Amino acid sequence: MMSYGYNPQWSEGSLKCPIFQTSTFVFNSAEEGKAFFEVAYGLREQGPEEKVGLIYSRINNPDLEILENRLCLWDGAEEGAVFESGMSAISTMLLEFLKPGDVLLHSDPVYGGTDHFIHHVLREFGIEEIGFHPDHDEDDIWRMLEDSGKKDRVKVIYIETPANPTNQLIDIEMCSRLAKRLSTADKKVITAVDNTYMGPLFQHPLKQGADLVLYSATKYIGGHSDVIAGACLGSSELIKRVKAMRTFLGSMAGPWTGWLLMRSLETLKVRMTQQAENAKEVAHFLNEFPCVNKVYYNGLLEPGSRAEAIYKNQCLGPGAMVSFEIKGGEKAAFAFLNNLKLIQLAVSLGGTESLAEHPATMTHIGVDDAMKQKMGISPGLIRLSIGVENIEDLIDDIREALQAVDCYAAQSAN
Ligand SMILES: *Cc1c(COP(=O)(O)O)cnc(C)c1O
Repeated sequence: MMSYGYNPQWSEGSLKCPIFQTSTFVFNSAEEGKAFFEVAYGLREQGPEEKVGLIYSRINNPDLEILENRLCLWDGAEEGAVFESGMSAISTMLLEFLKPGDVLLHSDPVYGGTDHFIHHVLREFGIEEIGFHPDHDEDDIWRMLEDSGKKDRVKVIYIETPANPTNQLIDIEMCSRLAKRLSTADKKVITAVDNTYMGPLFQHPLKQGADLVLYSATKYIGGHSDVIAGACLGSSELIKRVKAMRTFLGSMAGPWTGWLLMRSLETLKVRMTQQAENAKEVAHFLNEFPCVNKVYYNGLLEPGSRAEAIYKNQCLGPGAMVSFEIKGGEKAAFAFLNNLKLIQLAVSLGGTESLAEHPATMTHIGVDDAMKQKMGISPGLIRLSIGVENIEDLIDDIREALQAVDCYAAQSAN
């Protein structure tokens, strides 16, 4: 992450990759310009010795290309594309692979922005969707597809695992099996995984047979809550298509964003490792606290359960997101949030600082009540994104805020 894909000799010996703050690149000759465009527009294959030419920063820029090459290393991807936000990565990818009449099979719940894009934007383009839940197995989903009468039109399987905010797991291998069963000689169904919650350290969906992996790089990859960005990684064949759509939607990241993310990647592993260690302590502390009904954390899964089997197969660690349900509903949850001193009350996640929020009235306010209940988004649910702070400070803050809540009184008043 410090040096891959960059040579200081390209930039006056600069140890670090500079910010290439330029909109366009000068060609050495008209012939060279022509050759770059031919490759960029797919008019001919790139020659084996041919250098990829820089043309214009909507198409390519060194800060994006080097970042993309480094991101590919984590997931074992052939090629990557970075975007100005997680949502632009997701929407650009979906617009490339879905056409009017196609059906999107997706896990529920998905990130609020993705949910809106699927239900309100894609629908306007004649693209339908079918959602399944973490507790559905392969047979359940197959039956649901057959009953819907839309099975043969499924084009993309899109999942988010662990799911926000309750960390429920979706089996990635099951989804890639389903994609194979749904594919025909002239239609390859692709599986795309939003790996924002765990990746790229604790989960590598491409290794489980997924075709594409997506990130809100705003979260762990950026890691300092100071930049919005996204990424999509996979085979060269698929990413070339995603990049072509990116060129025409103009949803690529700028050079500043690319540079900031390269800086973040240098500490990604140390940050996420420390965050996960802190989260483990927090989850175990919460699990013992009398005012807490239930802790949603994948390091505390029931032995022998289906969730545990999926976890062992596809996760390298439980990550650093912990949700819990406090006794006493919204009143108790709000009292807890208002009494935190170190942990800030804000949405988003994955940064060096710990954050707390109330899914039912904040990130998931748009989810209808029946679905909220099904997903465990109760009035007492609190979501924590654990940062790199001193663990004793974090536990003290949580303990004091919990002690300030009279959860039993709140419960009887509710
Ligand atoms: C934040 C988030 C997104 C959207 O990313 P932006 O960078 O905010 O556009 C998508 N998926 C998940 C799981 C997220 O947490």
